[in-house]
Amino acid sequence: MKKPESFSDPIYITRPLLPELGDVIPYMESIWESKRLSNQAEFHTRLESELATYLNAEYLRVFCNGTLSLTLALMAMNVKGEVITTPFTFPATPHSILMAGATPIYTDIDPLSMCLDPGRIEEAITPATEAILGVHVYGVPCDVSAIQKIANRHGLKVIYDAAHAFNTLLDGAPICSFGDATMYSFHATKLFHTFEGGCVVSRKFEVDQQIQYLRNFGIKDELTVVKPGVNAKMNELQSAIGLEMLRIIGGELERRARIKALYEKGFSQIEGITMIQMPDNVSDSLQYLVVRVDKEQFGVEADVLYEELREFNIYARRYFYPLCTSYDYNRHNGVELPVAEQVAEEVLCFPFFGEMSSSDVEHILSCVAYIRHKNNS
Ligand SMILES: *Cc1c(COP(=O)(O)O)cnc(C)c1O
Repeated sequence: MKKPESFSDPIYITRPLLPELGDVIPYMESIWESKRLSNQAEFHTRLESELATYLNAEYLRVFCNGTLSLTLALMAMNVKGEVITTPFTFPATPHSILMAGATPIYTDIDPLSMCLDPGRIEEAITPATEAILGVHVYGVPCDVSAIQKIANRHGLKVIYDAAHAFNTLLDGAPICSFGDATMYSFHATKLFHTFEGGCVVSRKFEVDQQIQYLRNFGIKDELTVVKPGVNAKMNELQSAIGLEMLRIIGGELERRARIKALYEKGFSQIEGITMIQMPDNVSDSLQYLVVRVDKEQFGVEADVLYEELREFNIYARRYFYPLCTSYDYNRHNGVELPVAEQVAEEVLCFPFFGEMSSSDVEHILSCVAYIRHKNNS
């Protein structure tokens, strides 16, 4: 097998979706005209209402980033005790729990969905447990009905980190339809983004009101501050980008669906590489292109494939290796997490964005095939 050429320019896991600059200028003109740059001005208000429609949400509030969105959602719901969560996520998830003053308790994940395993949750519940924080990792939904049943049985709150799941639909419903609150991240690496940003969808008027106080210094009105809040507001530039992004997201989803199909066809012919599959009742958020590498069949582990791809100028990412529980400040409470440990060793995220050409995908696939060949001969 002939060694493929390297990419002349590095190919990264993502490239941000951007509106045409010309389409953003009118928003800038309007901001310059009004001189309203932040503090819940016109574009902020419009973005909240358009997003609420897009996500079919009753209460939706935008923020300066996803991490603070999640932290303040926990604070708004007064979650201060133990929170059962997954070790297989981006560190922002447990950090939000810690910053809210609560304690993350890690339980193992399901080997297929890679989300919290509902069968492991109940054994972790103690009198101090107040909430379950699930992550719809890679846009694969948690088992929301099993989690809700456990929460109801024990009087717990359910919060979801849907940073990867902006476009995930479960039985046709946006994923924020489940749980007491859901966070989305609008960071530049996410499919729908506002450069930096995030939002929380919640279900109760009282929680929504607390969220609004917390993101704006705790201010109720000009004379009243009701609690020590922070500044977590989204500004007008970010909000304008969000509005324009909602117009172009459909095209990006179509492009990514075509790229996913090319990868799917190619990987089906490479033994030892399996692309993760969405269940039949789920529509893919198209945030990441994730495979699992079977060492026995592929010949080497995911970390070796990752390293060897770099030699071809291909920058895959090992989301989420190592587990959140591997950091010193965050050592877990002695619970075994064998599934999460194995999954973290096996996964690899490939370059995935609408601007990729079919020949980029073909070329990446031939490099993977070459690496397999090389390591098996
Ligand atoms: C991106 C991400 C976040 C953090 O969002 P920011 O907007 O970058 O603060 C939280 N959780 C997960 C799983 C993420 O991937």
